[in-house]
Amino acid sequence: MPNIVVIGAGVSGLTSAYLLSKEKNNKITVVAKHMPGDYDIEYASPWAGANVLPRWERQTWPEMKRLATEVPEAGIHLLKSRVYRREKDLEKLRRGGHSYDGLFMENPWYGSLFDDFRELPKDELPQGIASGCEFGSVCINTALYLPWLLGKCRANGVVFRRGQLKHVSEAAAMSRTGTSADIVINTTGLMASRLGGVMDQNLYPVRGQIVVVRNEAPYMLTTSGTDDGDEEVFYLMMRAAGGGTILGGTYQQGQWESQPDPNIAMRIMRRAVEMMPELSDGKGVQGLDIIRHGVGLRPARKGGVRIEKEKIGDTWVVHNYGHAGWGYQGSYGCAEGVVELVREILNKPKL
Ligand code: FAD
Repeated sequence: MPNIVVIGAGVSGLTSAYLLSKEKNNKITVVAKHMPGDYDIEYASPWAGANVLPRWERQTWPEMKRLATEVPEAGIHLLKSRVYRREKDLEKLRRGGHSYDGLFMENPWYGSLFDDFRELPKDELPQGIASGCEFGSVCINTALYLPWLLGKCRANGVVFRRGQLKHVSEAAAMSRTGTSADIVINTTGLMASRLGGVMDQNLYPVRGQIVVVRNEAPYMLTTSGTDDGDEEVFYLMMRAAGGGTILGGTYQQGQWESQPDPNIAMRIMRRAVEMMPELSDGKGVQGLDIIRHGVGLRPARKGGVRIEKEKIGDTWVVHNYGHAGWGYQGSYGCAEGVVELVREILNKPKL
């Protein structure tokens, strides 16, 4: 019976454990310093919006859509998403200079992914916006979704333990079975840069500051840039089931600061009411009802996400970390990659 220890209980660890636990023979233990319910600068998952804008979605989108329509307890709902390309950013977009690969492209590849995708006619665009598109996407209430995933794992027999590992080799001994694990899954996100035996120096934080408000937004919105410098971005999205509306944000590469900056917060709120005045009934920033300010660090990696197997000492380790700003939207695709690698190690045929 394969004995597997997953290090990490963010969206990557939980989705990996969930998919692995669907094979009834697998004995799975999840060990993590932070669990759903915690808010910490070393734990990216609670801070995400989180929505699904195109990228690794070919594999993830169908499952997210199913959860949004058929599984209300997962805390995901369908919501229209608008993407605006600003006149001021056209030159930069033509040069390909934007951190959200492909999102703001004209005639984007993801036009074929969403049934209701449409380019917006000029009369539906506000001033200063050169073009834009709209499609039905989902917004995840991470405060509901992470515990739901954890519950699905527990229902399949996965055991959860608190623990902070100094070295990846400590994981094998933490299996709930009492015997050493055959395989360790490393889903430690940004902290894989500090985990002994891994110490991946290609990882770096991309700081995201957000404001969560009670105000409701009729659709999700993002623009290709802002007037406040390259490190500041604009997006807003209303989480499912009363989870509040996330106003974002920043995209600060190499920044580890855990505390919200009040000047940035003010700019985030100003941009939100400028782009969507109905958010605060035309009352501007004064009309916003703040729940909390927050900061999360997107686990970015030079060379991209790391999904591969590696023998460390006597133990096989499968890595699944470095998802930057798309950990949710790629979560099922990446976890399926983990399942395939585990099957390879166990010499099982491909699914
Ligand atoms: P994490 O959530 O950081 O989890 C790491 C886990 O490993 C934790 O449980 C931690 O305790 C554990 N761990 C680490 N080191 C150790 C150790 N030594 N011992 C034991 N346990 C350890 N993504 C989207 O798809 N859509 C979005 O709209 C979106 N918006 C975002 C907005 C913001 C502001 C931010 C910050 C991120 C956003 N993201 C979004 C990105 C997404 O949040 C991340 O890609 C994702 O959460 C990464 O998850 P993870 O499980 O890999 O890492």
